[in-house]
Amino acid sequence: MTTREMQDEILRLKQEKSVCVLVHAYQDEDIWEIADYVGDSFGLSQQAAAAKEDTVLMCGVRFMAETVKILAPQKRVFLSHPQAGCPMADAVDEDILAQVKADTPDVPVAAYVNTTAAVKALCDVCVTSSSAVKILRAYPADRFIFLPDPNLGAYIQSQLPEKSFELLPGGCPTHLRLTERDIAAAREAHPDALILMHPECHPRVAKKADYLGSTTQILSYAEKSDKKEFVIATENSIVEHLKFRCPDKKFYPLSRDCVCHNMRLTTLPDVYRFLATGEGEEILLAPDLIEKARRPIDAMLRYGG
Ligand code: SF4
Repeated sequence: MTTREMQDEILRLKQEKSVCVLVHAYQDEDIWEIADYVGDSFGLSQQAAAAKEDTVLMCGVRFMAETVKILAPQKRVFLSHPQAGCPMADAVDEDILAQVKADTPDVPVAAYVNTTAAVKALCDVCVTSSSAVKILRAYPADRFIFLPDPNLGAYIQSQLPEKSFELLPGGCPTHLRLTERDIAAAREAHPDALILMHPECHPRVAKKADYLGSTTQILSYAEKSDKKEFVIATENSIVEHLKFRCPDKKFYPLSRDCVCHNMRLTTLPDVYRFLATGEGEEILLAPDLIEKARRPIDAMLRYGG
């Protein structure tokens, strides 16, 4: 079967079986083309909750499928590839977090939405990279414990100097691959380009960027800018999205290494196999875990609007 034939068959099967296919922006192009929605993790979860289909296939990583299940517990949610985890989310030790909470019971725990359901259940409020500053500015506390990305946490701290953040260790291995040397090489190769970077990059590197923003904010900034050339310092799939959206502009990856291999585990044949056979990993979460993990997400919606 050619790629095109497989895509046509997937489109037919998902309609016949009434399956909503959610695709994270970091997946490959051949998967975007068969998606019902393409977006960031939280945007996809909201789309899933609103979708008319009772079955959802998440083409992304495990915490994203869990977040869909938390927001839409009545739906059957499947993960596109059973090994697709997020090393940053998986590195959080729940016992250590529980101990930190016990030691500082008056300090709320703020978690990036890139966390497992079990970790969300221990937190007070979730944030996304695009909404973190707004949410934590509005949240009624002056001190926070923040996890699992101290780089994003350092960015939030720089934007909210009136509050203080204890940053637990962690970080995204994909964005941590970007270095100051990459910036120097990009400035030399593309002197007219703006460097647009995700705040998951190390602060030492981030301070050399022209603009810091979430994936969605980077896409929007590049689209609206009068500039014609950009170096993109986030997962390299965003370079391809931008080339497609803005054919009159030039986009370069800051580094060829900025690829999330977990995100890229899912292939078009995985999607086809699930739709053709129904075989796949269903996300099952206990009702009390869903209830506890939902609370910080509700707080995020309350303070983030
Ligand atoms: S890009 Fe980073 S945060 Fe996102 S799934 Fe990959 S490892 Fe996790």
